Amino acid sequence: MHIAKRMKTLGTETAFEVLVRARALEAKGKDIIHLEIGEPDFDTPGFIRSAGKKALDDGFTHYGPAPGLPELRKAIAEHMSSRLGVDFNQDQVVVTPGGKPIMFFVILACVDEGDEVIYPNPGFPIYESVINFVGAKPIPMPLREANEFRVDVRELERLITPKTRMLIINTPGNPTGGILTKEDTKKIAELAVKHDLIVLSDEIYSRILYDGFEHVSITTFPGMLERTIILDGFSKTFAMTGWRLGFGIMPEELVPKVAQLQINSNSCTASFVQIAGANALTGPQKEVDEMVKEFTRRRDAIVDGLNGIPGFHCHRPLGAFYVFPNITGTGKTSRALADHLLDQAGVACLSGTAFGAYGEGYLRFSYANSIENIGKALERIRRSIA
Ligand code: PLP
Repeated sequence: MHIAKRMKTLGTETAFEVLVRARALEAKGKDIIHLEIGEPDFDTPGFIRSAGKKALDDGFTHYGPAPGLPELRKAIAEHMSSRLGVDFNQDQVVVTPGGKPIMFFVILACVDEGDEVIYPNPGFPIYESVINFVGAKPIPMPLREANEFRVDVRELERLITPKTRMLIINTPGNPTGGILTKEDTKKIAELAVKHDLIVLSDEIYSRILYDGFEHVSITTFPGMLERTIILDGFSKTFAMTGWRLGFGIMPEELVPKVAQLQINSNSCTASFVQIAGANALTGPQKEVDEMVKEFTRRRDAIVDGLNGIPGFHCHRPLGAFYVFPNITGTGKTSRALADHLLDQAGVACLSGTAFGAYGEGYLRFSYANSIENIGKALERIRRSIA
């Protein structure tokens, strides 16, 4: 069959490929510990599941408006206004099946062929993939271990040219767990205003924070509301990856364009899922806090464990549920070590290069797995490295 040329420019997310390889090994009887996929192992809180079931019985089984059901758009605007300290209204919200379509839609809607887009590297692979797909030029913004995987603002300034249309930031970040401080974010906002950049601010992990660190959205700084799209969602915060529910908050003039892309692809997000989401935001938040507490324990276990393995050095991240250890001391490339750990040790993880060229020398482990499995994985890695 003929495959269109444009498909050559589209990338992918290696996590899903590694998952398939790991499952194939399991089918052959091998015991694998899964530290590759970025999803909480917890069940969706019971009250959210009940709200979804009730919504099905109440008839939320039909098409809804493309930008989302009014009850969810209102709940999102209110929740995000109070959480971020910014005044959003529901007309700025577009609900999508997961947060990912916001990346796709916003880049399609705002970036022309030949424009430059600056994006974090190592970073979520779909940014670079979609930038290439629309014929724009991806400009990697290196996140370095020496700088705790934060943006080096002076380096960022040097990357901006008259062709730069958009800047993508992600805090806390996948794959490093690194954060942007309030001061970093303020300086980035000043650059965005000075150079008239659109900012796609991926804040999907912004409730998964440790050691008292507080998230500051770039939308809180002067001149940012009119140029920023916040990407957020329910997958990580409420352990709802399979429900497919996310959203963007954006300048009102962009909403009809993103809604039009939705009409051309998904039509709308599943109605009963949206009702469950509204309940997630307005209901008790106790279980989110409990998940974060458990993630803190796991973060410490995996960071301490990896730092005890010869050849590994692991920064202690302040957010998300990933660690990104430096493995250059093992003498292996990231890809070779990731393959070795899967095939020989039965530990599935991702090569740092799955997140861009600046990920060479690192592996990504997701610690969204039980503390027992993390302990077992560490022991297996230690033995196989020895
Ligand atoms: N942004 C980042 C940085 C992510 O890591 C992910 C998922 O892994 C997403 C967005 C999209 O998540 P979803 O589409 O499940 O909401």
